[in-house]
Amino acid sequence: MTDEVLVDRMALPRPDVTVADAEEILLAHYGLSGTLAELGSQQDRNYRVDTDDGRYVLKICHAAYETRELEAQNAAIHHLKSKEDAPRVPNVISTNDGREIVVLTVRGQGYQVRLLEYLEGQGLTDLSYVAPASVAALGALCARLAQALADFNHPGLDRSLQWDLRRAGPVAVQLLSAITDSAARDRIAKTMVMAVRRLQPLAPSLRLQAVHHDVTGDNVVGHRDAHGRTIPDGVIDFGDIIRGWLVGDLAVTCASLLHQADGDPFHILPAVTAYQAIYPLTDDELKALWPLVVARAVILVASSEQQISIDPDNDYVRGNLDDERAIFDTAMSVPFELMEAAILKAAGVDVAAWQSSGWLQLLPDIDATGIAYVDLGVESPHFSAGNWLNADVDWRLLARAATDNGAAATRYGEYRLSRAGLRAAKASATCALHIDICLAAGSAIAAPFAGRIGWKDQHLTLSGDRMTLHLDGLDLSVEDGAEVAAGDSLGVVFGEASSLGGLRVQLCSVAGLEPPLFATPRQAAAWSTLCPSPSSLLSQGADAARLETTELLSRRQAHLAKPQKNYYAAPPQIERGWKEFMFDVEGRAYLDMVNNVTILGHGHPRLAKAISAQWLRLNTNSRFHYADVAEFSERLAALAPEGLDAVFLVNSGSEANDLALRLAKAHSGARNMLCLLEAYHGWSAASDAVSTSIADNPQALTTRPDWVHAIVSPNTYRGDFRGPDTAADYLGMATPVLEAIDAAGEGLAGFIAESVYGNAGGIPLPEGYLKELYAQVRARGGLCIADEVQVGYGRLGHYFWGFEQQGVVPDIITIAKGMGNGHPLGAVITTRDIAESLEKEGTFFSSTGGSPVSCVAGMTVLDIMAEEGLQENARTVGDHLKARLAALIDSHPIVGAVHGIGLYLGLEFIRDRTTLTPATEETAAICDRLLELGVIMQPTGDHQNVLKIKPPLCLSIESADFFANMLEKVLAEGW
Ligand code: PMP
Repeated sequence: MTDEVLVDRMALPRPDVTVADAEEILLAHYGLSGTLAELGSQQDRNYRVDTDDGRYVLKICHAAYETRELEAQNAAIHHLKSKEDAPRVPNVISTNDGREIVVLTVRGQGYQVRLLEYLEGQGLTDLSYVAPASVAALGALCARLAQALADFNHPGLDRSLQWDLRRAGPVAVQLLSAITDSAARDRIAKTMVMAVRRLQPLAPSLRLQAVHHDVTGDNVVGHRDAHGRTIPDGVIDFGDIIRGWLVGDLAVTCASLLHQADGDPFHILPAVTAYQAIYPLTDDELKALWPLVVARAVILVASSEQQISIDPDNDYVRGNLDDERAIFDTAMSVPFELMEAAILKAAGVDVAAWQSSGWLQLLPDIDATGIAYVDLGVESPHFSAGNWLNADVDWRLLARAATDNGAAATRYGEYRLSRAGLRAAKASATCALHIDICLAAGSAIAAPFAGRIGWKDQHLTLSGDRMTLHLDGLDLSVEDGAEVAAGDSLGVVFGEASSLGGLRVQLCSVAGLEPPLFATPRQAAAWSTLCPSPSSLLSQGADAARLETTELLSRRQAHLAKPQKNYYAAPPQIERGWKEFMFDVEGRAYLDMVNNVTILGHGHPRLAKAISAQWLRLNTNSRFHYADVAEFSERLAALAPEGLDAVFLVNSGSEANDLALRLAKAHSGARNMLCLLEAYHGWSAASDAVSTSIADNPQALTTRPDWVHAIVSPNTYRGDFRGPDTAADYLGMATPVLEAIDAAGEGLAGFIAESVYGNAGGIPLPEGYLKELYAQVRARGGLCIADEVQVGYGRLGHYFWGFEQQGVVPDIITIAKGMGNGHPLGAVITTRDIAESLEKEGTFFSSTGGSPVSCVAGMTVLDIMAEEGLQENARTVGDHLKARLAALIDSHPIVGAVHGIGLYLGLEFIRDRTTLTPATEETAAICDRLLELGVIMQPTGDHQNVLKIKPPLCLSIESADFFANMLEKVLAEGW
């Protein structure tokens, strides 16, 4: 078939077969009747048919398509059905008289009709975000399909199809005539020429086989995995099946992924890795992949434009056009060479490092070994207290080092902290692909290799054999266009005599490309193959140390005992914090929304200074007499309600609760303790005994010791009784437990509970609950312990202590976490009388509890909290954030409720508003997606379906809004 015939065929509008016509066809040939709904198609007319017995797809295509092409589609389906590892495909349904294809006419037009089973499952196209796991699964599906079709043959496979990427060039030329916007037409044409030019030398080695050639989000169906992500496992629509380039098949899939890539072409890489693991492509095929993706993008845009011109009412085509333009723009946003390098790396092919043998020194008069390389990375000692946010900080540090040393330089491949954007949904370009040198103006600069000079806008290029040197900041002594030999003078460093000048050095192997100075972490490895290190022109030390995040994780997992888990399957390596932000070693800034320990925020300079000064002066134990321990215990006692004025200083929440339990037992003389279900109080033997959360310990409910008596937690959202007025109902459920304790005659030592239901996601207790329960406990001689480790100390904003909300005063308060802002610090505050009961068991001593350093840490935290108004901030920012989160309930069915108060909030995800089925897997996936968007968030609660929102109390309104915006984005786009 000639390309003209092909294009004529492309010019066909969809068959003129109405619903009524289709109903008639179904009844006459298949004996079926049901409800019909049209499905989108570019050139066929497809109806979904819902009958009492099942769902089908009626496919009507033009007679212009040869019957053997349709026979090939059916044969491929039968072939795949016979293969064990092939993806799911729909059954072909025969007519009453056993035919799989019916040839018929409607109003004088000839058509061919088929009926297929409707393959159930989740599609990928409706999602505007496709998770890397889904991208990989699509690549794997494409590979399994191609592998299963490798031995499939049929005469109908040798056909002319506009989508056949072997003919992309001529087909594009034919289609372009339909595009009226000449600028767009030129751009598309130029792009196709570039793609074809790269394909030509590779074409002879590209393998041919039967390929589906349309494994796109539209044509796959899948299931939801344990994280709520769609994993495609079935394929529909064999309309483009052909004997074609194997790698062309993957190119079609990759191109389709680009419209959900948010502009990042690297989004396709997990598909390439997954494909390669199943059905490996050759190096030439991998090199052809990106040019084929680009060619496909061109054909998609051009053909939709053309189709619109002949079938202006086709909403399906019109709707696709925006997607196709996005695919084209994303494909063209990076150089071909970059994607080639990225694809090869993703496929596990070693891309040889650039060898620069025989290059001369760029700075012949400078002893390169004397250059001071300035650390501008995330862990640099030059940075503290956010000073990297000052404009030009890197340059100023460089100039200072040069003043001290004569010459100083930045490092190639360093992830620069100063470039880490705060509150950014996308990772910033932080990785330096160049080196800046600060040195004496007038220093000589020589050509390290032979080449031709280019000089434009004060920017010099020296284009040599396969490499271009880019320089800025020099006073040129050669002419634009001149040819120079290695060692020839290029000029001197610009600037007045005896001043310092700045020289920027970069290499790039792509001729004519103006490379970026920095790359994003995701693109850094690929860019570094195109822009190798200029260290061979300077000296060793010019390269930043390689990051070892993965190796470190293995080392951690080898030696840190297994039960001490880490957040995230692939955790970022966090090495710096500042206020409510954390930074990984690649300079990605994350908004830390879970850190209930660091209440002041990270990296507080005043706290660091106070602790450091105390360390230099004295650190010892509380058996010595020193001012800090007297002062700190006095201040803590003053914070507690009247009468609670005896303070024990320990090191953690577990220790504080352990001691509180001992006090209750010692004071009451009894051993039975009452606690709540779904609670966590610590890891030590006693605090663990009263911890009932099955999320922390799945065996918790069956392994509690006999002195622990857990009562139903008053979960006013999903518990047996719902709403704020349920205290009496929940207290009623506690009665049998209390009665059983009474019946045993052993008495009650006490009751321990968080005064806001923290572990379950910050759910307030029903009104009056603690008042009545405390009374019942006290009536039995027991003590009431308020675990304020998480919720107390100002976090609730409206209250300093959680128990204030319930209008009660406990007998014992336990605190930890925030009181040291991360320094190990805990305390028990109780009455003198209760405290002294412990004397029966001897004295109390904790070696480091209440040490001078700990006391200084604790007091400085209190000072800063007061001076920076952090409790007030928790109230105002918390109220604002809660209102933003509450607004999500109306627009997103998965959002069940917002619990909590101040900066202790919980967002509960559910699958159904009636049954309140917890959306556990979805919550995990949402947390992973939030990490990609620069937010640290984790699930909590027995069902792990509540976001635990407990950021540093210095959280700004902008940060609260950023969190709410990112959450909204995830809920809208998918995860
Ligand atoms: N009580 C509560 C309510 C807690 O949340 C925690 C810690 N998550 C603890 C006690 C134990 O504190 P630590 O980890 O400091 O021992």
